Amino acid sequence: MFGLRKTLGSLFTSNQTDEAWFDALEESLILSDVGLPTTEQLISKLRKAAKSEKANTPEALKQLLIEEVTILLKSMEPNPNPLYVHEQKTTPEVWLVVGVNGAGKTTTIGKLCKLFQSQGKSVLLAAGDTFRAAARNQLLEWGGRNQVDVIMQESGDAAAVAHDAIHAAISRKSDILIIDTAGRLATQDHLMEELKKVKRVIGKALPGAPHQTLLVLDGNTGQNGLNQVRAFHAALELSALIVTKLDGTAKGGVICALAHTLSDGPKLAVLALGKGEGIDDLAPFMAAQYSSELFN
Ligand code: GDP
Repeated sequence: MFGLRKTLGSLFTSNQTDEAWFDALEESLILSDVGLPTTEQLISKLRKAAKSEKANTPEALKQLLIEEVTILLKSMEPNPNPLYVHEQKTTPEVWLVVGVNGAGKTTTIGKLCKLFQSQGKSVLLAAGDTFRAAARNQLLEWGGRNQVDVIMQESGDAAAVAHDAIHAAISRKSDILIIDTAGRLATQDHLMEELKKVKRVIGKALPGAPHQTLLVLDGNTGQNGLNQVRAFHAALELSALIVTKLDGTAKGGVICALAHTLSDGPKLAVLALGKGEGIDDLAPFMAAQYSSELFN
């Protein structure tokens, strides 16, 4: 799984906590994308605890670190998690899924589809990336795997696909409609304008929709990932995130950096973590568990 084991090495099993020990810990936090401000805060707390003898062994410092990171990550925990809310609705719940190409959008949609179906919900998919035939085909594959229909058009624009899909979902009485979108246009401005238009059209076709505007973020993208969150949120008012590719990475710290970045901004919960390419490799995000996995 993920975690800092590789960069932490034997730090927590050593028997002393001198300057070099703190420097090595600081370096591995930074290498794992925890971010400089958060790393400095954490290291300063640990140094104080070590001085006051509150926690003066590597093991005690590790426990303190896990506690501090859990507190930090609590702000990213959804409460309740909309992935698991069972509300009887008379109209479809619409999930608009955005993110840059390669982040794992389509794969995550396939996983979400299976998760919702396992809760007894009927799902419809919409291929809103009308720029890449490959994206459409990939969504069709996931639709096939889950045995759900995919609304798409041979040509046409994403807003038209979203519009059609909402009407299809209403007439089929689908519980959930998940709309995939493009991740790359000529420029970032073009992409955001296109996505804003899709969102506007969705809201006109079904007032109150989309109910979730979900950003899929590759967990290995560091500072670039933070910039993506800012840019997508500024254009679309995101409601939540899913962070992917957290299997086998030493960079799981990005969610700490996100928590820090968003601490005086919008509340954006992480609904789930992508932990592999398979259909079941999606785990709900829980602060304490995440923090413990990071350092164990
Ligand atoms: P999209 O362009 O955003 O739709 O991204 P895709 O869904 O096509 O995913 C891009 C690549 O990342 C594919 O090879 C996926 O199999 C892979 N991928 C997606 N999610 C995960 C994950 O959680 N873990 C791993 N290891 N790979 C993933």
